[in-house]
Amino acid sequence: MTKFEALGLEKTLLNAITDLGFEKPSEVQEKAIPILLETETDLVALAQTGTGKTAAFGFPIIQKIDSNSRTTQGLILSPTRELCLQITNELKLYSKYEKNISTVAIYGGASITDQARQIKRGAQIIVATPGRMKDMINRRLVDISKIDYCVLDEADEMLNMGFFEDIKDILSNTPDEKSTWLFSATMPREVSIIAKKFMHNPQEITVGTKNAGTSNVQHEYYVVSGRDRYPALKRLADTNPNIFSVIFCRTKRDTQRVAEKLIEDGYSAGALHGDLSQNQRDLVMSSFRKKQIQMLVATDVAARGIDVDDITHVINYQLPDEIETYTHRSGRTGRAGKSGVSMVIVTRSELRKIKSIENKIHQKFLSKKIPTGIEICEIQLYHLANKIKDTKINEDVENYLPAINEVLKDVDRDDLIKKIVSVEFTRFYNYYNKTKDLNSSDSHERSDRGQDRNNRNQAPTSGSVRYFINVGEKDGYDWMSLKDFVRDTVGLQQDDVFKVDVKESFSFFNTDAVITDKILSTFTEFKVDGRFVNVEVSKNPGGGGGRRDRKKSSRSGSGRERSSYGGNSRNGGKRRERSYGKSESSGNRRSKKRKSDFF
Ligand code: ADP
Ligand code: MG
Repeated sequence: MTKFEALGLEKTLLNAITDLGFEKPSEVQEKAIPILLETETDLVALAQTGTGKTAAFGFPIIQKIDSNSRTTQGLILSPTRELCLQITNELKLYSKYEKNISTVAIYGGASITDQARQIKRGAQIIVATPGRMKDMINRRLVDISKIDYCVLDEADEMLNMGFFEDIKDILSNTPDEKSTWLFSATMPREVSIIAKKFMHNPQEITVGTKNAGTSNVQHEYYVVSGRDRYPALKRLADTNPNIFSVIFCRTKRDTQRVAEKLIEDGYSAGALHGDLSQNQRDLVMSSFRKKQIQMLVATDVAARGIDVDDITHVINYQLPDEIETYTHRSGRTGRAGKSGVSMVIVTRSELRKIKSIENKIHQKFLSKKIPTGIEICEIQLYHLANKIKDTKINEDVENYLPAINEVLKDVDRDDLIKKIVSVEFTRFYNYYNKTKDLNSSDSHERSDRGQDRNNRNQAPTSGSVRYFINVGEKDGYDWMSLKDFVRDTVGLQQDDVFKVDVKESFSFFNTDAVITDKILSTFTEFKVDGRFVNVEVSKNPGGGGGRRDRKKSSRSGSGRERSSYGGNSRNGGKRRERSYGKSESSGNRRSKKRKSDFF
């Protein structure tokens, strides 16, 4: 096995590596580091998440820059503020035994003057997000005209987020003679365009397969607001008519509740958890094995022993607390050489867990959209047509054919097909016809551009939204402290919360409609000192300048505004959840009671 020494790294770096506890180089490091140290070349390196790409460019860049000069010599572009900080921290650890090497992070959402001051003191390496970098170039707060090395880290991600133009602009401020190192998990077309356009005969290294690794399991996540988990689950099931799946919930209560709801809504589902008797559990498992049950809703503990092949989907209704548990869950599918899908329903506040899982499993998740009602109707329609085509004819029907022909004699072939298909299709159509989009933007830590992309399929969310919150003066709040509380809890900027109006036992405030989902999901089952703090969209738009939330008024149809909390039309004509009052979470019960107290 190659050691770090063999790659040509200096003593100071080797000492830092020892401190970090890295024993041997990862594959991408082993391949990239010697090339980057020995030659002045452009490089394209493809390796999955968690393979140690940061050190693969970090060690060489530190070794190659001239620490006696204060000039900025290296620029690393990375897609998000989090990554930018992470890379900066790593580089600081790598260079701890170097004298006079300064690495500065530049990213949005923090003081630009502070960052400019740090740069002015002399930063040989700048790690930046494209948006803020461009801003600082335009304001002449940085000078990258003399850099020798430019790293495009997570290039696929940066391009996904719409940073192409920014990157182009930034690169146009750098000298032609520099070396450009591009690191990416995947090589979509946009990345090869960048490579062609801005790099000169780059060397290429690839670690592992170019696509999603060795596993048969595809990992997907769907971002919804906390209270849309169940409708989202139904849509995922309806999108996959032949689904044979295990659905994981965190608690026994949720497991039971979700299974009951699915059964009530007409799915073939069963619950598996520790509160059932051994006998009940055996029955459920045997039905599942015989595929009499399509969806098994289970807790992690109860599902531990399940070894059923052919499971097409694992659905994480909620993410587990431990990352390790996720691996066990997703391992239920993709068995015996078959392929499988592991789907995760997440709220935006849980998105960072997806990143941790990616690092752990060394595989990228696909960010997917919950299909719209119309898409599901289409899928169901084709499924039905195929089902009819593949149905084995029951020969006994023959005897009745003359009579049936007589009944249908005036119906032509096209109409007949329409009618047959409508028997089942109308049920879905009526249910999904006027439903809203369930997707939440997953771009909270990303650029505005990224947000636009992710919002493309969303219901309109413009203007400002007024909220009701069940804390007020008696809880010790005034408008300023309530504003701070909401802002800090949700993680918003200074001016995101406005028109705060504190009453004795409750309050109102406004935000821009684009962050409504974030507000509502943060305050789902949210407790302070053991007490539920609930936020809901206020039926009183007052203080919002008279702008009404378009999303809501189209939902209620009649123009009568109502709180988005209780019933909603996306559950179609069924309104099933009413019969679940007794198994609703205590949080919801409380808030309903509280609401009737006030309104
Ligand atoms: P990538 O950028 O490819 O997603 P990172 O550079 O973030 O991966 O590295 C993932 C994790 O692996 C980090 O916690 C890092 O400290 C660790 N790591 C990197 N190289 C090594 C190594 N040679 N030995 C052990 N751990 C390593
Ligand atoms: Mg990385």
